[in-house]
Amino acid sequence: MTGRILIADDVATNRIIMKVKLAAACYRVEQADSGAAVLAALSDDLPDLLILDVDLPDIDGITVCRKIREDPATTDIPVIMVSARLDTETRLAALRAGAEEFLPKPLDEMILLARVRNLIRSRALGEELKLREGTARKLGFAEAPSTFARAERVVLVGRRPDIALRWCRGIEGKVSANIEIMPYEQLLDTLGKARSRPDLLVIPSGLKSGASGLILLAELRSRAETRHSAILVVHEDGDLFSAIAALDMGADDVLPATCTATEMALRIRRQLDRKAQADRLRATVEDGLKLAMTDPLTGLFNRRYALPHLSRIAARSITDDRPFAVMVLDIDHFKLVNDQHGHAAGDAVLQEVAQRIKDNLRSVDLVARFGGEEFLVAMPDTDLASARIAAERLRAVIEDTPVALPGSDGRVTVTLSIGVAIGGEPDEATENVERLVDCADKALLWAKSGGRNQVTFGQTAA
Ligand code: GH3
Ligand code: MG
Ligand code: MG
Repeated sequence: MTGRILIADDVATNRIIMKVKLAAACYRVEQADSGAAVLAALSDDLPDLLILDVDLPDIDGITVCRKIREDPATTDIPVIMVSARLDTETRLAALRAGAEEFLPKPLDEMILLARVRNLIRSRALGEELKLREGTARKLGFAEAPSTFARAERVVLVGRRPDIALRWCRGIEGKVSANIEIMPYEQLLDTLGKARSRPDLLVIPSGLKSGASGLILLAELRSRAETRHSAILVVHEDGDLFSAIAALDMGADDVLPATCTATEMALRIRRQLDRKAQADRLRATVEDGLKLAMTDPLTGLFNRRYALPHLSRIAARSITDDRPFAVMVLDIDHFKLVNDQHGHAAGDAVLQEVAQRIKDNLRSVDLVARFGGEEFLVAMPDTDLASARIAAERLRAVIEDTPVALPGSDGRVTVTLSIGVAIGGEPDEATENVERLVDCADKALLWAKSGGRNQVTFGQTAA
């Protein structure tokens, strides 16, 4: 994956060595020799990653990093801080300032490149999500989802129970979340049964019996319960192979077993915040999709969704050589409900009729609101005889029980007229769904002119 990387270091030789390594891995590299130069470069076009030296001649790297995080325009740029200073204070200061990673100089090329790959990949995913969210917003589908504070769930899986317990004691009080310890033998089984999904997991790169934590990582990434969870992999000190492999296999962060509890807590907090942001974006996109294909009053699919879905049912019926049924259902004299009881009563009737139609069909059947008081039903694998029974049942469940009116004790009886057409019959070219819907529509007109409250079949089936 290519990307633009900005390197900030005041020593030209350092910049050049790094540039050669990154360019060899096909990244486009730009350079800055001071804190001011970094901030100026960020005011134009944003890079996909910043590699930032702690010691810069004007503004120190930690202050630069903090400024980047405080500015909404630059806050999402991943930052790797580098320094020849190896004290814990500098390391923690870099992480506190919002750096994703701190790497000691001289840089290990393999670990640097693995970090770069990992951060650029997750940035690309984040940007894609933001783009979709933006599109949903522009189309007017997306409202900001309600963000109620929920206790986050952190699961610690140690190589041994005492290790997980030590992590837990170390981060308690530093990370406000529900923290659980789980033996890895039980992890997958328990996750499958648990009601809530973990927001973050900490797992070791090597497990007790010599089993690989990296296989566990791959398994967690592939499961629905943990696909979106943040995963941190703890590796033995100096085991850079595991760290690199974990970063490339989808870990969100890696840290050495010797790291301080404060560092672990900082890294957990950062990943929890990132996940919360991704969750919010994903929810907006999903809400937008849902709004784009459903009718808000009845919750049924809308016409925009129904027609392509109907085409798929038609195509499937041809491959399977099984017929399918299309019904158009229209409430009789619905205008009278509005006129006599008001628009709110009309809405309540539409909702109740929609619910009864849904309740009396199979889950594979498509139910859509097609127009004002008109519905479309598509039933895969359904022949004329079964369609007749289903349509008659729908007609009866509407007529038999009057609908309660909102805000009063009143009830109103409504009826349905239904036109049916059968598609996918071997001797007909009924795969054209528009023709089929037309045919059901014509049948509906006959039902209306024949006195309403009845089921009529279209010509393709007659
Ligand atoms: P017919 O038996 O011939 O179908 O008569 P009808 O009165 O049901 O049909 P018509 O098409 O004349 O009237 C449909 C009415 O449905 C008119 C419209 O105001 C009303 N309507 C459409 N959408 C809604 C809605 O979302 N809510 C409410 N309350 N009424 C709606
Ligand atoms: Mg009507
Ligand atoms: Mg109508």
